[in-house]
Amino acid sequence: MNINEVFEKQGAKSLELRTDPIKARIRRLKDLRDWILANRTRIQEAVYKDLRKPQEEVDLCETWVTLGEVRKAIRNLKYWVMPKPESTSLAFIGTKAEVYYEPKGRALIISPWNYPFNLGVNPLISAIAAGNTVLLKPSEISTHTSLLLKEMVEELFDDDLVAVFTGGVDVSTELLKLPFDHIFFTGSPRVGKIVMEAASKHLASVTLELGGKSPCIVDESVNIKDAAKKIAWGKWLNAGQTCVAPDYVFVHEKIKTSFLEQLQKEAEILYGGEGSYTSIISEDHYNRLSQWKDQAVEAGARVSYEAESNPETRRMGPSIVEDVGKGTHLNENEIFGPICMVKSFTDIDEAIDLVNSRPKALAAYIFARNKKVVEQFKRRTSAGSFAVNDTVIQFGHPSMPFGGVNNSGIGKSHGRYGFLEFSNQKSILKQRVGFTMAKNLYPPYNKFKRLNIDFLLKYF
Ligand code: NAD
Repeated sequence: MNINEVFEKQGAKSLELRTDPIKARIRRLKDLRDWILANRTRIQEAVYKDLRKPQEEVDLCETWVTLGEVRKAIRNLKYWVMPKPESTSLAFIGTKAEVYYEPKGRALIISPWNYPFNLGVNPLISAIAAGNTVLLKPSEISTHTSLLLKEMVEELFDDDLVAVFTGGVDVSTELLKLPFDHIFFTGSPRVGKIVMEAASKHLASVTLELGGKSPCIVDESVNIKDAAKKIAWGKWLNAGQTCVAPDYVFVHEKIKTSFLEQLQKEAEILYGGEGSYTSIISEDHYNRLSQWKDQAVEAGARVSYEAESNPETRRMGPSIVEDVGKGTHLNENEIFGPICMVKSFTDIDEAIDLVNSRPKALAAYIFARNKKVVEQFKRRTSAGSFAVNDTVIQFGHPSMPFGGVNNSGIGKSHGRYGFLEFSNQKSILKQRVGFTMAKNLYPPYNKFKRLNIDFLLKYF
């Protein structure tokens, strides 16, 4: 079956889905949940083949995260779809207003390689919950998991409802020519712009889940041991290939030495042993990261810690790099790997200025016990999400919107926010038959109508 044929079939199906009972959507979600539970080992194996990711990390970051998402949708869908009444004003007296959630129609989902199962399935859950058909294009780099996604979808759904097309840029480009009703893209800001441009041809709505350089501020008021452990975990989880990983750490000058000693210790405790650490996805990315580090060092940066690496298994150990110069790749681009760039500051204003000099990040973190410092950083910087005294875990929170802002993304996902993203919030106004307030304003205009208009302008 080729892309155009499936797209056509999904067009007809999407019209049917408009009147599909909610229990049919819940049934599909339950089938998906049951498949995930029954195929835990297949998911572990596929992700291991792509990223050499430890089983426990696959269970937590891929399987459990998607189970949480699907369970939430199953439990809440009947409330999410319930039309929400809106209050009316005197000028609209006699009318009833409500927001009705209709499926957008045909959705395209394009996903990346770094959490290859979770980032394909989570938006799929939202799209199904909202009553859409889906064409999913997973990453060509995480080939084993992409194949598993295809098998999963073929085992669960007819292709007029959900279909997977694997492949690279060529397949994405073909798909992006089609007039989808919504495009949900997760990936880099560079490709996000290509997707948005393609969507503009058909005025398709978009959700862009992108990346960027997420800052992590460590204030002098911090508990060093606690901060170092949480930062080490979030930075080196998945070998730093996490969209919301702290990209660079900005630490107060007064505690820099002791913080860095502790950060190094925690890196060894958490990720030093066999079987607890993920590899770099590909040789290309391994080489990119090595070259970026070498370039920074040539330009004057100092590697103050570097754990063992092995190009053959693409294991790149955690490292800490200080004094990274402007203009180097490490300083200018999202690192997306296990290199932790560290700078120091003496005054929170300096940290805020640096964060504000860069495009808005996907996440911003602060470790501090001083509430005034936390408040200043929260209010004077902008990011998709903000966490105090922890890293990364906000991604998995079941009730909060997840997404970026401008360069780090457009739109939100997860739970009800994901459902809304794939729904058209149609406003429905029901007017009474016969006399209505609005008729008092219809032409022909006379003294009485003018009085009504004056009244309206003055009070409503
Ligand atoms: P990418 O942008 O290179 O690729 C993402 C997807 O887009 C893939 O399926 C790929 O095949 C497709 N693609 C690539 N080039 C394309 C083109 N020219 N035209 C159309 N489609 C194209 O991203 P990646 O390397 O897979 O993932 C890493 C990036 O994703 C990082 O920037 C990371 O921060 C971001 N990310 C964001 C989130 C989030 O939830 N916000 C989650 C994970 C990753």
